[in-house]
Amino acid sequence: MTWQTVHKTARPDWPAPNLDDYETADAGFSWQRARAALTGLPGGGLNIAFEAVDRHLDDGLADKVAIRWLGKDLTQRDIRYRELAALTSNFAHLLERLGVAPGERVFSLLGRVPELYVAALGTLKAGRVFSPLFSAFGPEPIKARMTIGDARVLVTTVSYYRRKVAPWRDRLPGLTHVLLTDANASDLPEGTLSFAEALADCRDSGGLVETQPEEMALLHFTSGTTGLPKGAIHVHEAVVVHRLTGHYALDLHPDDIYWCTADPGWVTGTSYGMIAPLVIGATMIVDEAELDPERWLGILQDQQVNVWYTAPTAIRMLMKLASAEERGIFADYDLSHLRFLASVGEPLNPEGVVWGQDVIGLPFHDNWWQTETGGIMIANYRSQPIKPGSMGRPLPGIEAAVVQVDPKTETVSPIESPNIPGQLALRPGWPSMFRGYLNEPERYRKCFVDGWYLSGDLAERDADGYFWFLGRADDMIKSAGHLIGPFEVESALMEHEAVAEAAAIGIPEPTAGEIVKALVALKPGFTPDEALRRSLLGHARKRLGPAVAPREIDFRANLPKTRSGKIMRRLLRARELGLPEGDISTLESDER
Ligand code: ATP
Ligand code: MG
Repeated sequence: MTWQTVHKTARPDWPAPNLDDYETADAGFSWQRARAALTGLPGGGLNIAFEAVDRHLDDGLADKVAIRWLGKDLTQRDIRYRELAALTSNFAHLLERLGVAPGERVFSLLGRVPELYVAALGTLKAGRVFSPLFSAFGPEPIKARMTIGDARVLVTTVSYYRRKVAPWRDRLPGLTHVLLTDANASDLPEGTLSFAEALADCRDSGGLVETQPEEMALLHFTSGTTGLPKGAIHVHEAVVVHRLTGHYALDLHPDDIYWCTADPGWVTGTSYGMIAPLVIGATMIVDEAELDPERWLGILQDQQVNVWYTAPTAIRMLMKLASAEERGIFADYDLSHLRFLASVGEPLNPEGVVWGQDVIGLPFHDNWWQTETGGIMIANYRSQPIKPGSMGRPLPGIEAAVVQVDPKTETVSPIESPNIPGQLALRPGWPSMFRGYLNEPERYRKCFVDGWYLSGDLAERDADGYFWFLGRADDMIKSAGHLIGPFEVESALMEHEAVAEAAAIGIPEPTAGEIVKALVALKPGFTPDEALRRSLLGHARKRLGPAVAPREIDFRANLPKTRSGKIMRRLLRARELGLPEGDISTLESDER
Protein backbone atom coordinates (compact mmCIF):
# COMPACT_ATOMS: atom_id res chain seq x y z
CA MET A 1 0.00 0.00 0.00
CA THR A 2 1.10 3.47 -0.78
CA TRP A 3 -0.45 5.25 2.17
CA GLN A 4 2.63 5.92 4.21
CA THR A 5 4.15 7.71 1.27
CA VAL A 6 1.00 9.62 0.43
CA HIS A 7 0.22 11.07 3.85
CA LYS A 8 1.78 14.25 5.05
CA THR A 9 3.77 14.23 8.27
CA ALA A 10 2.91 16.23 11.38
CA ARG A 11 3.67 19.90 11.17
CA PRO A 12 5.54 21.98 13.74
CA ASP A 13 2.58 24.33 14.19
CA TRP A 14 0.33 21.55 15.45
CA PRO A 15 -0.48 21.32 19.13
CA ALA A 16 2.02 19.27 21.11
CA PRO A 17 0.51 16.13 22.60
CA ASN A 18 -0.71 16.58 26.13
CA LEU A 19 0.83 13.85 28.21
CA ASP A 20 -0.46 14.93 31.62
CA ASP A 21 -2.43 11.94 32.80
CA TYR A 22 -2.49 9.61 29.85
CA GLU A 23 0.74 7.75 30.40
CA THR A 24 -0.14 6.92 33.99
CA ALA A 25 -3.65 5.91 33.05
CA ASP A 26 -2.44 3.62 30.30
CA ALA A 27 0.26 2.05 32.44
CA GLY A 28 -2.05 1.16 35.31
CA PHE A 29 -5.17 0.75 33.22
CA SER A 30 -7.98 -1.58 34.20
CA TRP A 31 -11.70 -1.39 33.50
CA GLN A 32 -12.26 -1.56 37.22
CA ARG A 33 -10.26 1.64 37.66
CA ALA A 34 -12.09 3.27 34.78
CA ARG A 35 -15.35 2.38 36.44
CA ALA A 36 -14.22 3.89 39.75
CA ALA A 37 -14.44 7.33 38.09
CA LEU A 38 -18.23 6.89 38.16
CA THR A 39 -20.48 6.99 41.22
CA GLY A 40 -22.40 3.75 40.80
CA LEU A 41 -25.46 2.58 42.70
CA PRO A 42 -25.84 0.41 45.78
CA GLY A 43 -25.21 -3.29 45.31
CA GLY A 44 -22.97 -2.85 42.27
CA GLY A 45 -25.71 -1.16 40.23
CA LEU A 46 -25.04 1.26 37.41
CA ASN A 47 -27.40 3.50 35.48
CA ILE A 48 -26.41 5.71 32.57
CA ALA A 49 -28.89 8.48 33.37
CA PHE A 50 -27.91 8.61 37.03
CA GLU A 51 -24.25 9.04 36.01
CA ALA A 52 -25.13 11.61 33.37
CA VAL A 53 -27.55 13.71 35.40
CA ASP A 54 -28.49 12.96 38.99
CA ARG A 55 -25.07 12.52 40.48
CA HIS A 56 -24.27 16.11 39.49
CA LEU A 57 -26.82 17.30 42.04
CA ASP A 58 -24.22 16.46 44.68
CA ASP A 59 -20.98 17.45 43.00
CA GLY A 60 -21.52 21.20 42.76
CA LEU A 61 -22.80 21.22 39.16
CA ALA A 62 -26.55 21.27 39.90
CA ASP A 63 -27.00 24.84 38.70
CA LYS A 64 -24.76 24.56 35.72
CA VAL A 65 -26.22 24.48 32.21
CA ALA A 66 -26.31 20.87 31.04
CA ILE A 67 -27.99 21.41 27.67
CA ARG A 68 -28.07 24.65 25.75
CA TRP A 69 -30.69 24.13 23.09
CA LEU A 70 -30.79 26.35 20.01
CA GLY A 71 -34.04 26.24 18.06
CA LYS A 72 -34.20 26.64 14.29
CA ASP A 73 -34.90 30.35 14.77
CA LEU A 74 -32.00 30.49 17.27
CA THR A 75 -34.30 30.73 20.30
CA GLN A 76 -32.19 29.58 23.19
CA ARG A 77 -33.29 27.35 26.05
CA ASP A 78 -30.94 26.42 28.87
CA ILE A 79 -31.61 23.29 30.89
CA ARG A 80 -29.56 23.08 34.05
CA TYR A 81 -28.56 19.78 35.61
CA ARG A 82 -31.11 20.27 38.39
CA GLU A 83 -33.95 20.82 35.94
CA LEU A 84 -32.84 17.93 33.76
CA ALA A 85 -32.86 15.67 36.82
CA ALA A 86 -36.45 16.71 37.61
CA LEU A 87 -37.73 16.38 34.04
CA THR A 88 -36.18 12.97 33.54
CA SER A 89 -37.58 11.77 36.87
CA ASN A 90 -41.03 12.88 35.74
CA PHE A 91 -40.65 10.96 32.52
CA ALA A 92 -39.44 7.89 34.41
CA HIS A 93 -42.54 8.06 36.59
CA LEU A 94 -44.73 8.52 33.59
CA LEU A 95 -43.48 5.28 32.07
CA GLU A 96 -44.22 3.50 35.30
CA ARG A 97 -47.74 4.93 35.41
CA LEU A 98 -48.38 3.93 31.83
CA GLY A 99 -47.56 0.37 32.82
CA VAL A 100 -44.43 0.09 30.72
CA ALA A 101 -42.40 -2.77 32.17
CA PRO A 102 -38.65 -2.64 32.82
CA GLY A 103 -36.73 -3.61 29.67
CA GLU A 104 -39.57 -2.60 27.31
CA ARG A 105 -38.74 -0.28 24.42
CA VAL A 106 -39.44 3.43 24.17
CA PHE A 107 -38.84 4.87 20.68
CA SER A 108 -38.48 8.48 19.65
CA LEU A 109 -39.14 10.01 16.27
CA LEU A 110 -38.16 13.61 16.88
CA GLY A 111 -35.88 16.33 15.61
CA ARG A 112 -33.22 17.55 18.03
CA VAL A 113 -35.66 19.07 20.52
CA PRO A 114 -35.36 19.12 24.34
CA GLU A 115 -38.10 16.47 24.68
CA LEU A 116 -35.85 13.97 22.90
CA TYR A 117 -33.16 14.30 25.56
CA VAL A 118 -35.69 14.21 28.40
CA ALA A 119 -37.32 11.08 26.99
CA ALA A 120 -33.99 9.35 26.38
CA LEU A 121 -32.52 10.01 29.80
CA GLY A 122 -35.87 9.50 31.55
CA THR A 123 -36.25 6.09 29.90
CA LEU A 124 -32.75 5.05 30.96
CA LYS A 125 -33.41 6.28 34.47
CA ALA A 126 -36.54 4.14 34.59
CA GLY A 127 -34.61 1.05 33.50
CA ARG A 128 -36.57 0.89 30.25
CA VAL A 129 -34.84 0.71 26.86
CA PHE A 130 -34.50 3.69 24.55
CA SER A 131 -34.28 3.59 20.77
CA PRO A 132 -33.96 6.89 18.87
CA LEU A 133 -34.97 7.11 15.20
CA PHE A 134 -34.06 9.76 12.65
CA SER A 135 -37.05 12.03 12.17
CA ALA A 136 -36.32 12.13 8.44
CA PHE A 137 -37.05 8.42 8.01
CA GLY A 138 -40.13 7.58 5.98
CA PRO A 139 -42.96 5.28 7.19
CA GLU A 140 -41.33 2.03 6.03
CA PRO A 141 -37.96 2.31 7.82
CA ILE A 142 -39.79 3.50 10.93
CA LYS A 143 -42.17 0.57 10.87
CA ALA A 144 -39.33 -1.90 10.21
CA ARG A 145 -37.30 -0.68 13.18
CA MET A 146 -40.22 -0.38 15.58
CA THR A 147 -41.27 -3.89 14.64
CA ILE A 148 -37.79 -5.35 15.22
CA GLY A 149 -37.60 -3.43 18.51
CA ASP A 150 -41.14 -4.38 19.58
CA ALA A 151 -41.97 -0.79 20.49
CA ARG A 152 -44.21 -0.16 23.47
CA VAL A 153 -44.06 3.64 23.54
CA LEU A 154 -43.38 6.25 20.85
CA VAL A 155 -42.55 9.90 21.48
CA THR A 156 -43.10 12.01 18.37
CA THR A 157 -44.86 15.06 16.92
CA VAL A 158 -48.40 15.39 15.54
CA SER A 159 -47.23 15.70 11.99
CA TYR A 160 -44.77 12.78 12.08
CA TYR A 161 -47.43 10.69 13.75
CA ARG A 162 -50.12 11.45 11.18
CA ARG A 163 -47.86 11.02 8.15
CA LYS A 164 -45.46 8.28 9.17
CA VAL A 165 -47.01 6.15 11.91
CA ALA A 166 -50.83 6.37 12.01
CA PRO A 167 -51.26 4.66 8.58
CA TRP A 168 -49.76 1.40 9.84
CA ARG A 169 -50.16 1.64 13.61
CA ASP A 170 -52.72 -1.16 13.76
CA ARG A 171 -50.04 -3.55 12.59
CA LEU A 172 -48.04 -2.99 15.76
CA PRO A 173 -50.53 -3.87 18.51
CA GLY A 174 -47.76 -3.83 21.15
CA LEU A 175 -47.44 -0.06 20.68
CA THR A 176 -49.78 0.98 23.45
CA HIS A 177 -48.74 4.61 24.01
CA VAL A 178 -47.95 7.47 21.66
CA LEU A 179 -46.85 10.74 23.27
CA LEU A 180 -46.97 13.89 21.15
CA THR A 181 -44.64 16.74 22.01
CA ASP A 182 -46.55 19.49 20.18
CA ALA A 183 -50.18 18.76 20.90
CA ASN A 184 -52.49 19.73 23.72
CA ALA A 185 -55.33 17.71 25.09
CA SER A 186 -58.00 19.45 23.00
CA ASP A 187 -56.70 18.46 19.56
CA LEU A 188 -55.06 15.09 20.09
CA PRO A 189 -55.35 12.46 17.36
CA GLU A 190 -57.14 9.34 18.56
CA GLY A 191 -55.03 7.01 20.67
CA THR A 192 -52.37 9.56 21.59
CA LEU A 193 -51.40 11.58 24.65
CA SER A 194 -49.88 15.01 25.11
CA PHE A 195 -46.27 14.69 26.26
CA ALA A 196 -46.38 17.97 28.19
CA GLU A 197 -49.61 17.20 29.98
CA ALA A 198 -48.72 13.64 30.81
CA LEU A 199 -45.42 14.84 32.22
CA ALA A 200 -47.07 17.60 34.24
CA ASP A 201 -49.19 14.96 35.96
CA CYS A 202 -46.05 13.19 37.16
CA ARG A 203 -44.31 15.78 39.24
CA ASP A 204 -42.63 13.33 41.57
CA SER A 205 -38.98 13.12 42.37
CA GLY A 206 -36.98 9.93 42.23
CA GLY A 207 -38.00 7.55 39.49
CA LEU A 208 -34.58 5.97 39.38
CA VAL A 209 -34.50 2.23 38.92
CA GLU A 210 -31.32 0.70 40.27
CA THR A 211 -30.28 -1.10 37.12
CA GLN A 212 -27.43 -3.58 36.98
CA PRO A 213 -24.50 -2.94 34.60
CA GLU A 214 -25.60 -5.73 32.25
CA GLU A 215 -29.20 -4.57 31.81
CA MET A 216 -30.19 -3.46 28.33
CA ALA A 217 -30.28 0.32 28.01
CA LEU A 218 -30.21 1.33 24.34
CA LEU A 219 -31.20 -0.19 21.05
CA HIS A 220 -29.27 1.48 18.23
CA PHE A 221 -29.72 0.74 14.57
CA THR A 222 -26.61 0.79 12.38
CA SER A 223 -26.39 3.28 9.52
CA GLY A 224 -27.37 0.75 6.87
CA THR A 225 -24.41 1.65 4.66
CA THR A 226 -23.83 -1.94 3.61
CA GLY A 227 -27.36 -3.32 3.77
CA LEU A 228 -30.31 -3.80 6.05
CA PRO A 229 -29.74 -2.01 9.38
CA LYS A 230 -29.12 -4.11 12.47
CA GLY A 231 -30.42 -3.31 15.97
CA ALA A 232 -27.41 -3.29 18.28
CA ILE A 233 -28.11 -3.88 21.96
CA HIS A 234 -26.20 -1.78 24.50
CA VAL A 235 -26.20 -2.04 28.29
CA HIS A 236 -25.80 0.42 31.17
CA GLU A 237 -22.17 -0.52 31.66
CA ALA A 238 -21.37 1.25 28.37
CA VAL A 239 -21.24 4.49 30.32
CA VAL A 240 -17.77 3.51 31.57
CA VAL A 241 -16.48 3.82 27.99
CA HIS A 242 -18.45 6.99 27.26
CA ARG A 243 -16.81 8.76 30.15
CA LEU A 244 -13.32 7.43 29.53
CA THR A 245 -13.27 8.14 25.81
CA GLY A 246 -14.95 11.53 26.24
CA HIS A 247 -11.95 12.41 28.35
CA TYR A 248 -9.14 10.87 26.29
CA ALA A 249 -10.40 10.94 22.72
CA LEU A 250 -12.33 14.22 22.86
CA ASP A 251 -10.35 16.00 25.57
CA LEU A 252 -13.61 16.90 27.33
CA HIS A 253 -13.50 18.55 30.74
CA PRO A 254 -16.28 19.82 33.04
CA ASP A 255 -15.50 23.45 32.15
CA ASP A 256 -16.00 22.90 28.46
CA ILE A 257 -18.68 24.08 26.10
CA TYR A 258 -19.00 21.12 23.79
CA TRP A 259 -20.82 20.58 20.53
CA CYS A 260 -21.36 17.26 18.79
CA THR A 261 -23.21 17.85 15.54
CA ALA A 262 -24.53 14.28 15.20
CA ASP A 263 -28.21 13.45 15.51
CA PRO A 264 -29.11 10.90 18.23
CA GLY A 265 -30.71 8.86 15.42
CA TRP A 266 -27.27 7.35 14.97
CA VAL A 267 -25.04 6.21 17.73
CA THR A 268 -22.61 9.16 17.83
CA GLY A 269 -25.47 11.52 18.66
CA THR A 270 -26.31 9.42 21.72
CA SER A 271 -22.93 8.23 23.02
CA TYR A 272 -21.23 11.60 22.41
CA GLY A 273 -24.13 13.96 21.68
CA MET A 274 -25.71 13.22 25.05
CA ILE A 275 -24.13 10.71 27.44
CA ALA A 276 -20.37 11.46 27.44
CA PRO A 277 -20.57 15.26 27.84
CA LEU A 278 -23.19 15.03 30.61
CA VAL A 279 -21.34 12.33 32.51
CA ILE A 280 -18.25 14.54 32.41
CA GLY A 281 -20.35 17.51 33.57
CA ALA A 282 -19.76 19.76 30.57
CA THR A 283 -22.28 22.08 28.90
CA MET A 284 -23.44 20.65 25.60
CA ILE A 285 -24.92 22.52 22.66
CA VAL A 286 -27.87 21.03 20.80
CA ASP A 287 -28.72 22.70 17.51
CA GLU A 288 -32.10 21.88 16.04
CA ALA A 289 -31.20 23.01 12.51
CA GLU A 290 -29.41 21.15 9.75
CA LEU A 291 -25.95 21.96 8.45
CA ASP A 292 -25.65 25.55 7.29
CA PRO A 293 -22.04 26.76 7.29
CA GLU A 294 -22.79 30.32 8.30
CA ARG A 295 -25.05 29.24 11.13
CA TRP A 296 -22.46 26.73 12.34
CA LEU A 297 -19.68 29.31 12.39
CA GLY A 298 -22.00 31.68 14.22
CA ILE A 299 -22.71 29.03 16.87
CA LEU A 300 -19.03 28.11 17.31
CA GLN A 301 -18.25 31.79 17.82
CA ASP A 302 -21.22 33.01 19.87
CA GLN A 303 -21.43 29.97 22.14
CA GLN A 304 -17.65 29.99 22.62
CA VAL A 305 -17.45 26.30 21.84
CA ASN A 306 -14.21 24.64 23.06
CA VAL A 307 -14.56 21.10 21.79
CA TRP A 308 -16.23 20.26 18.50
CA TYR A 309 -17.03 16.76 17.26
CA THR A 310 -18.28 16.44 13.70
CA ALA A 311 -18.05 14.27 10.58
CA PRO A 312 -16.06 14.22 7.33
CA THR A 313 -19.13 14.98 5.25
CA ALA A 314 -19.56 18.28 7.13
CA ILE A 315 -15.84 19.02 7.02
CA ARG A 316 -15.77 18.46 3.26
CA MET A 317 -18.67 20.83 2.88
CA LEU A 318 -16.85 23.51 4.87
CA MET A 319 -13.71 22.86 2.84
CA LYS A 320 -15.57 24.04 -0.25
CA LEU A 321 -15.84 27.48 1.30
CA ALA A 322 -12.32 28.35 2.38
CA SER A 323 -8.63 27.58 2.06
CA ALA A 324 -5.44 28.80 3.76
CA GLU A 325 -5.10 31.48 1.08
CA GLU A 326 -8.74 32.45 0.76
CA ARG A 327 -10.36 32.20 4.14
CA GLY A 328 -13.78 33.19 2.74
CA ILE A 329 -16.51 33.42 5.38
CA PHE A 330 -14.14 32.03 7.98
CA ALA A 331 -12.43 35.45 8.02
CA ASP A 332 -15.60 36.94 9.55
CA TYR A 333 -15.73 34.70 12.62
CA ASP A 334 -13.72 34.52 15.82
CA LEU A 335 -13.19 30.83 16.55
CA SER A 336 -10.49 31.39 19.14
CA HIS A 337 -12.35 29.50 21.87
CA LEU A 338 -11.96 26.23 20.03
CA ARG A 339 -9.36 23.96 21.59
CA PHE A 340 -10.02 20.49 20.18
CA LEU A 341 -11.59 19.28 16.94
CA ALA A 342 -12.56 15.68 16.25
CA SER A 343 -14.17 13.73 13.43
CA VAL A 344 -15.84 10.35 13.02
CA GLY A 345 -18.07 8.31 10.76
CA GLU A 346 -16.04 7.96 7.60
CA PRO A 347 -12.40 8.15 6.74
CA LEU A 348 -11.15 11.71 7.12
CA ASN A 349 -8.94 12.51 4.18
CA PRO A 350 -5.53 13.95 5.18
CA GLU A 351 -6.54 17.10 3.29
CA GLY A 352 -9.31 17.63 5.84
CA VAL A 353 -6.95 17.39 8.82
CA VAL A 354 -4.55 19.89 7.29
CA TRP A 355 -7.37 22.19 6.19
CA GLY A 356 -8.48 22.40 9.85
CA GLN A 357 -5.07 23.63 10.87
CA ASP A 358 -4.82 26.11 7.99
CA VAL A 359 -8.29 27.59 8.19
CA ILE A 360 -9.46 27.10 11.79
CA GLY A 361 -6.03 26.98 13.40
CA LEU A 362 -6.45 23.43 14.76
CA PRO A 363 -6.17 20.03 13.09
CA PHE A 364 -9.05 17.55 13.20
CA HIS A 365 -8.51 14.42 15.28
CA ASP A 366 -9.94 11.46 13.41
CA ASN A 367 -11.32 8.57 15.41
CA TRP A 368 -12.88 5.24 14.57
CA TRP A 369 -15.72 3.22 16.02
CA GLN A 370 -19.04 1.63 15.11
CA THR A 371 -22.59 1.28 16.37
CA GLU A 372 -21.51 -2.14 17.60
CA THR A 373 -18.56 -0.87 19.65
CA GLY A 374 -20.73 1.68 21.47
CA GLY A 375 -17.84 4.07 21.94
CA ILE A 376 -14.59 5.30 20.38
CA MET A 377 -12.04 2.50 20.01
CA ILE A 378 -9.20 4.01 17.98
CA ALA A 379 -8.28 7.68 17.93
CA ASN A 380 -5.74 10.36 17.27
CA TYR A 381 -6.10 11.36 20.87
CA ARG A 382 -4.83 14.35 22.69
CA SER A 383 -1.81 12.67 24.22
CA GLN A 384 -0.15 11.62 21.00
CA PRO A 385 0.86 13.24 17.72
CA ILE A 386 -1.71 13.24 14.92
CA LYS A 387 -0.99 11.37 11.73
CA PRO A 388 -3.23 12.85 9.02
CA GLY A 389 -5.09 10.12 7.18
CA SER A 390 -4.73 7.67 10.08
CA MET A 391 -7.50 6.77 12.53
CA GLY A 392 -4.94 6.84 15.34
CA ARG A 393 -4.18 4.27 18.02
CA PRO A 394 -6.38 2.12 20.27
CA LEU A 395 -7.57 3.78 23.48
CA PRO A 396 -6.53 2.49 26.91
CA GLY A 397 -8.13 -0.90 27.54
CA ILE A 398 -8.76 -1.59 23.85
CA GLU A 399 -6.87 -4.35 22.09
CA ALA A 400 -7.10 -3.88 18.33
CA ALA A 401 -5.27 -5.78 15.61
CA VAL A 402 -5.08 -6.22 11.88
CA VAL A 403 -5.77 -9.90 11.32
CA GLN A 404 -5.98 -12.58 8.71
CA VAL A 405 -8.94 -14.92 8.91
CA ASP A 406 -8.85 -18.46 7.65
CA PRO A 407 -12.50 -19.27 6.93
CA LYS A 408 -11.85 -23.02 6.61
CA THR A 409 -10.30 -23.54 10.03
CA GLU A 410 -12.06 -20.53 11.57
CA THR A 411 -8.79 -19.26 12.96
CA VAL A 412 -7.62 -15.68 13.25
CA SER A 413 -3.97 -14.67 13.14
CA PRO A 414 -2.91 -11.14 14.02
CA ILE A 415 -0.50 -9.68 11.45
CA GLU A 416 2.53 -8.49 13.39
CA SER A 417 4.48 -6.87 10.53
CA PRO A 418 3.60 -3.25 9.81
CA ASN A 419 1.76 -1.98 6.73
CA ILE A 420 0.10 -5.21 5.70
CA PRO A 421 -3.62 -5.04 4.91
CA GLY A 422 -6.04 -7.23 6.83
CA GLN A 423 -9.29 -7.20 8.74
CA LEU A 424 -9.65 -4.78 11.62
CA ALA A 425 -10.46 -6.85 14.71
CA LEU A 426 -10.97 -6.14 18.40
CA ARG A 427 -10.58 -8.37 21.43
CA PRO A 428 -14.05 -8.45 23.08
CA GLY A 429 -14.52 -7.39 26.67
CA TRP A 430 -14.81 -3.60 26.74
CA PRO A 431 -17.94 -2.37 28.56
CA SER A 432 -19.70 -0.63 25.62
CA MET A 433 -19.44 -3.67 23.40
CA PHE A 434 -22.84 -4.55 21.86
CA ARG A 435 -24.47 -7.56 23.48
CA GLY A 436 -26.34 -8.73 20.42
CA TYR A 437 -28.34 -7.77 17.34
CA LEU A 438 -31.90 -7.85 18.59
CA ASN A 439 -33.64 -11.02 17.36
CA GLU A 440 -30.74 -11.91 15.07
CA PRO A 441 -28.51 -14.23 17.11
CA GLU A 442 -26.95 -15.83 14.04
CA ARG A 443 -25.82 -12.50 12.59
CA TYR A 444 -24.32 -11.62 15.95
CA ARG A 445 -22.53 -14.94 16.27
CA LYS A 446 -20.90 -14.47 12.89
CA CYS A 447 -19.14 -11.32 14.08
CA PHE A 448 -16.90 -13.38 16.36
CA VAL A 449 -14.22 -15.78 15.24
CA ASP A 450 -11.54 -17.41 17.34
CA GLY A 451 -11.90 -14.99 20.24
CA TRP A 452 -11.93 -11.82 18.10
CA TYR A 453 -14.68 -9.43 17.05
CA LEU A 454 -14.38 -8.76 13.30
CA SER A 455 -15.41 -5.21 12.45
CA GLY A 456 -16.03 -5.69 8.72
CA ASP A 457 -13.48 -2.95 7.95
CA LEU A 458 -10.03 -3.45 6.44
CA ALA A 459 -6.99 -1.61 7.73
CA GLU A 460 -3.23 -1.56 8.12
CA ARG A 461 -1.15 -0.82 11.20
CA ASP A 462 2.11 1.07 10.88
CA ALA A 463 5.31 0.62 12.87
CA ASP A 464 4.17 3.24 15.43
CA GLY A 465 0.94 1.36 16.11
CA TYR A 466 -1.31 3.77 14.16
CA PHE A 467 -4.19 2.23 12.22
CA TRP A 468 -4.94 3.22 8.61
CA PHE A 469 -8.40 2.62 7.22
CA LEU A 470 -8.50 0.99 3.79
CA GLY A 471 -12.22 0.49 3.28
CA ARG A 472 -15.13 -1.67 4.25
CA ALA A 473 -14.55 -5.27 3.31
CA ASP A 474 -17.57 -5.00 0.95
CA ASP A 475 -16.19 -1.89 -0.79
CA MET A 476 -12.69 -3.15 -1.55
CA ILE A 477 -11.70 -3.25 -5.22
CA LYS A 478 -9.69 -6.13 -6.67
CA SER A 479 -7.86 -5.03 -9.78
CA ALA A 480 -5.16 -7.05 -11.58
CA GLY A 481 -4.19 -8.83 -8.39
CA HIS A 482 -4.13 -5.63 -6.28
CA LEU A 483 -6.47 -5.04 -3.38
CA ILE A 484 -7.39 -1.38 -3.57
CA GLY A 485 -9.06 0.55 -0.77
CA PRO A 486 -11.48 3.21 -2.03
CA PHE A 487 -10.29 5.64 0.65
CA GLU A 488 -6.80 5.80 -0.79
CA VAL A 489 -8.08 6.68 -4.25
CA GLU A 490 -10.59 9.18 -2.89
CA SER A 491 -8.01 10.94 -0.74
CA ALA A 492 -5.67 11.37 -3.70
CA LEU A 493 -8.51 12.91 -5.71
CA MET A 494 -9.43 15.18 -2.80
CA GLU A 495 -5.99 16.78 -3.07
CA HIS A 496 -7.02 18.24 -6.43
CA GLU A 497 -8.28 21.81 -6.07
CA ALA A 498 -11.50 21.09 -7.99
CA VAL A 499 -12.72 18.12 -5.94
CA ALA A 500 -15.31 18.47 -3.17
CA GLU A 501 -16.17 14.77 -2.75
CA ALA A 502 -15.13 11.53 -4.38
CA ALA A 503 -16.16 7.87 -4.29
CA ALA A 504 -14.18 5.02 -5.82
CA ILE A 505 -15.85 1.77 -6.82
CA GLY A 506 -14.86 -1.41 -8.68
CA ILE A 507 -16.37 -2.09 -12.11
CA PRO A 508 -16.01 -5.58 -13.64
CA GLU A 509 -13.59 -5.78 -16.53
CA PRO A 510 -12.45 -8.97 -18.32
CA THR A 511 -8.65 -8.64 -18.05
CA ALA A 512 -8.16 -6.94 -14.69
CA GLY A 513 -11.15 -8.50 -12.91
CA GLU A 514 -12.20 -5.04 -11.79
CA ILE A 515 -11.11 -1.55 -12.68
CA VAL A 516 -11.36 1.50 -10.47
CA LYS A 517 -13.99 4.05 -11.36
CA ALA A 518 -14.30 7.32 -9.48
CA LEU A 519 -17.38 9.48 -9.13
CA VAL A 520 -16.55 13.05 -8.31
CA ALA A 521 -18.50 16.08 -7.10
CA LEU A 522 -16.84 19.42 -7.79
CA LYS A 523 -16.34 22.54 -5.71
CA PRO A 524 -18.32 25.61 -6.80
CA GLY A 525 -16.73 27.40 -9.75
CA PHE A 526 -15.38 24.31 -11.55
CA THR A 527 -16.85 22.99 -14.79
CA PRO A 528 -17.20 19.24 -15.33
CA ASP A 529 -15.56 19.03 -18.74
CA GLU A 530 -13.10 16.83 -20.58
CA ALA A 531 -10.09 18.97 -19.68
CA LEU A 532 -10.86 18.65 -15.97
CA ARG A 533 -11.45 14.90 -16.30
CA ARG A 534 -8.00 14.55 -17.89
CA SER A 535 -6.42 16.71 -15.24
CA LEU A 536 -7.95 14.53 -12.50
CA LEU A 537 -6.91 11.29 -14.17
CA GLY A 538 -3.36 12.65 -14.56
CA HIS A 539 -3.20 13.78 -10.94
CA ALA A 540 -4.45 10.41 -9.67
CA ARG A 541 -1.97 8.48 -11.82
CA LYS A 542 0.88 10.60 -10.51
CA ARG A 543 -0.17 10.11 -6.87
CA LEU A 544 -1.24 6.48 -6.99
CA GLY A 545 0.49 4.86 -9.95
CA PRO A 546 -1.29 3.27 -12.88
CA ALA A 547 -2.28 0.08 -11.03
CA VAL A 548 -4.32 1.90 -8.40
CA ALA A 549 -5.44 5.12 -10.14
CA PRO A 550 -9.00 5.24 -11.50
CA ARG A 551 -9.37 4.30 -15.12
CA GLU A 552 -12.66 6.21 -15.43
CA ILE A 553 -14.00 9.35 -13.81
CA ASP A 554 -17.59 10.61 -13.95
CA PHE A 555 -18.95 13.81 -12.49
CA ARG A 556 -21.96 13.98 -10.15
CA ALA A 557 -23.78 16.91 -8.55
CA ASN A 558 -23.33 15.08 -5.25
CA LEU A 559 -22.89 11.54 -3.94
CA PRO A 560 -25.58 9.37 -2.30
CA LYS A 561 -25.16 9.31 1.48
CA THR A 562 -26.79 7.76 4.50
CA ARG A 563 -28.48 10.01 7.02
CA SER A 564 -25.35 9.75 9.14
CA GLY A 565 -23.34 11.18 6.24
CA LYS A 566 -21.64 8.09 4.82
CA ILE A 567 -21.11 7.71 1.10
CA MET A 568 -23.04 4.63 -0.11
CA ARG A 569 -20.56 3.10 -2.51
CA ARG A 570 -22.64 -0.05 -2.86
CA LEU A 571 -25.49 2.05 -4.28
CA LEU A 572 -23.21 3.82 -6.76
CA ARG A 573 -21.91 0.45 -7.85
CA ALA A 574 -25.39 -1.06 -8.20
CA ARG A 575 -26.44 1.89 -10.34
CA GLU A 576 -23.35 1.67 -12.53
CA LEU A 577 -24.01 -2.01 -13.12
CA GLY A 578 -27.77 -1.79 -13.39
CA LEU A 579 -28.26 -4.03 -10.36
CA PRO A 580 -31.07 -3.79 -7.78
CA GLU A 581 -30.45 -0.92 -5.34
CA GLY A 582 -30.94 -3.05 -2.22
CA ASP A 583 -32.04 -1.53 1.10
CA ILE A 584 -31.91 2.25 0.78
CA SER A 585 -34.03 3.13 3.79
CA THR A 586 -31.27 5.27 5.26
CA LEU A 587 -30.42 7.11 2.04
CA GLU A 588 -30.41 10.87 2.41
CA SER A 589 -29.00 13.12 -0.31
CA ASP A 590 -29.50 11.78 -3.78
CA GLU A 591 -29.22 14.30 -6.58
CA ARG A 592 -27.97 12.46 -9.58
P1 ATP B 1 -24.08 -0.90 8.42
O1 ATP B 1 -23.30 -1.66 9.43
O2 ATP B 1 -25.55 -1.00 8.60
O3 ATP B 1 -23.62 -1.10 7.03
P2 ATP B 1 -22.48 1.38 9.15
O4 ATP B 1 -21.38 0.40 9.35
O5 ATP B 1 -22.22 2.55 8.27
O6 ATP B 1 -23.81 0.67 8.68
P3 ATP B 1 -22.15 2.70 11.69
O7 ATP B 1 -22.01 1.78 12.83
O8 ATP B 1 -22.88 3.98 11.91
O9 ATP B 1 -22.95 1.94 10.56
O10 ATP B 1 -20.74 3.08 11.09
C1 ATP B 1 -19.55 2.45 11.45
C2 ATP B 1 -18.65 2.37 10.25
O11 ATP B 1 -18.30 3.69 9.78
C3 ATP B 1 -17.32 1.72 10.49
O12 ATP B 1 -17.39 0.33 10.47
C4 ATP B 1 -16.47 2.29 9.35
O13 ATP B 1 -16.70 1.60 8.15
C5 ATP B 1 -17.00 3.70 9.25
N1 ATP B 1 -16.16 4.63 10.05
C6 ATP B 1 -16.43 5.17 11.24
N2 ATP B 1 -15.44 5.98 11.65
C7 ATP B 1 -14.48 5.92 10.72
C8 ATP B 1 -13.18 6.53 10.57
N3 ATP B 1 -12.70 7.37 11.46
N4 ATP B 1 -12.47 6.21 9.48
C9 ATP B 1 -12.98 5.35 8.55
N5 ATP B 1 -14.17 4.77 8.63
C10 ATP B 1 -14.93 5.05 9.69
MG1 MG C 1 -21.38 -1.51 10.09
